[in-house]
Amino acid sequence: MIYLDYQATPPVAPEVTAAMEPWVAAKFANPHSPSRLGREAEAAIEVARGQVERAIDLEGGRVAFTGSATEALNWALKGTVEKAQPGRNRIITLATEHAAVLDTCEWLAGRGIDLTVLPVKRDGILDLESLDRELDERVLLVAVMLVNNEIGVLQPVGKIAQMAHDAGALMLCDAVQGLGRLAIPPGPDLVAVSAHKIHGPKGIGALWMRETAEPDPFIHGGGQESGLRSGTLSPQLCVGFGVAAKLASECREHDHAHVHILWRDAMRALGPDWEINGSTSLRYLGNLNIRRDGVDAARLLADLRDIAFSLGSACASGSGRPSHVLRALGLDDRQSRSSIRLGFGRYTTQDELIDACSRIASAARTQECLLA
Ligand code: PLP
Repeated sequence: MIYLDYQATPPVAPEVTAAMEPWVAAKFANPHSPSRLGREAEAAIEVARGQVERAIDLEGGRVAFTGSATEALNWALKGTVEKAQPGRNRIITLATEHAAVLDTCEWLAGRGIDLTVLPVKRDGILDLESLDRELDERVLLVAVMLVNNEIGVLQPVGKIAQMAHDAGALMLCDAVQGLGRLAIPPGPDLVAVSAHKIHGPKGIGALWMRETAEPDPFIHGGGQESGLRSGTLSPQLCVGFGVAAKLASECREHDHAHVHILWRDAMRALGPDWEINGSTSLRYLGNLNIRRDGVDAARLLADLRDIAFSLGSACASGSGRPSHVLRALGLDDRQSRSSIRLGFGRYTTQDELIDACSRIASAARTQECLLA
């Protein structure tokens, strides 16, 4: 199997598996209990917290662990609304955000929040003037992701945070696909990340919160995570997240250079008949979302079962929903159905990527011949 679905989840790093192993069974103590074993687990969690904070690398805040980035985003949005000053009840977000943001915002809109979902330009990037026109003293929060999970484009998060602050609003950044791949620009007040997108374990995420912007608690109970997020922490998941974050920081330059080479190889092997969905310059190169007119992408997937790639968003796949991101770029349903996403990175070899892309190109040509 050639694995090209890194945006859904990349392989778990062997260093992560090894670091987690002792905490799975042997070191089973509750990290919130005062016994020596409990304190040892707590100490391991604090090391992991520091590693995640260093990977996020923003000043003036701290990280709380959550069960996923979806939870972190729900918490950031709902907990910020909960403590909003009277009169600040608007949220602005983008049409291309992840469902964890869009669906939560819609839920809040059903409870009285005034929601603005801004369109993006054809290249998938926000037009800052359209944001400027919307910002006023009623805006509570602007939520924009750093790297898009479906098409890989980068939003100008630093500038957006600055504009939000000038209007007295906060900025939430979904950095799930950006962490470890590029620096998170200074500015956001709340940042959501996920371990399994950086070669860590599934089932753990985190919310980085500026000291002045901590949302109200969303999950109530035992008062863990300084009373902000209740629930017994999992030492194995925290340790795995910490090691993945440390590796992400250490390997960033190497991973970046590797992905650059892979992108070039993929483009060459695919040939000239494919269009890139989204900006070709403002993007993370480990995400290649492409379309070829007339191709039935679902059939490509069925014909090439030993290559793992995606038709659109992994989170929405299987739901039968057409990609809201491709639609936001102005693509019609036919173009969306001709689009595939190839995701590669640290453990992808040049040979396997070239092999997979050549076979994808050849299968697409065969489809064309059959239709002709
Ligand atoms: N945000 C983005 C951009 C994502 O790609 C994903 C997962 O695909 C999420 C949020 C949700 O992350 P998690 O799987 O940790 O809930």
